[in-house]
Amino acid sequence: MGALSHCIQKHPQLQNKEVKIKKERINMKKGSLEIVCGSMFSGKTEELMRRLKRAEYAKQNVLTIKHQIDVRKSCECIVSHSGSKREAFSFNGSLNCIETILELAKNHDVIGFDEIQFFPAKTIDAIVALVESGKRVIAAGLDLDFRGEPFTIMPTLLAIADEVTKLKAICIQCGQNAHHTQRIINGKPAKYNDPIVLVGAEECYEARCRNCFSIEKPLEETTKITPSLKTKLDERNF
Ligand SMILES: [Zn+2]
Repeated sequence: MGALSHCIQKHPQLQNKEVKIKKERINMKKGSLEIVCGSMFSGKTEELMRRLKRAEYAKQNVLTIKHQIDVRKSCECIVSHSGSKREAFSFNGSLNCIETILELAKNHDVIGFDEIQFFPAKTIDAIVALVESGKRVIAAGLDLDFRGEPFTIMPTLLAIADEVTKLKAICIQCGQNAHHTQRIINGKPAKYNDPIVLVGAEECYEARCRNCFSIEKPLEETTKITPSLKTKLDERNF
């Protein structure tokens, strides 16, 4: 018999206190982090909206957040490529705005982020804080940039997530599953050193499979990346 139960037997008035403690523990339950990732046109925003809509059916309060850099079709909504819309708070990139999100989130059960790859590193701390305080966080974003390399904060989020869903698009060239986003400039694949961020229309990007994806790397990038990766692998004594 535990010390608390023994005490309750001797002092029945403590029964209510024990029930209260148990309730508090349940109320303090931590939340979770779900990541929906994949290439462009893989249906990430659509999947995010589906999960958020289900949460609303379950009578939960849902906060949707977008980055203002994504002005594809609307400033106040997230919009999927299939045309579904959902109102969203627009994040302006400042640290103050992260504080605003944390404040807004207090009145919500579920927090959905779209295009999370555009958010600054500080957002990771905010997401961890939200999860610790019991929120269900769902974030959708590109896992790879147009170079085929991990996109900004995504590797960290994927590592700390409770659940990861990697969606596939269809390769526009061969019809196989695609997980790369091919950037096209003037009808040709973008070069490795072109700037990463350019949110644009369909004509700028294509979903491609690994075989059809193409990125021209400058020689110095090819030689720089390969030896450092080899060193890291050697250090781990596989
Ligand atoms: Zn292909």
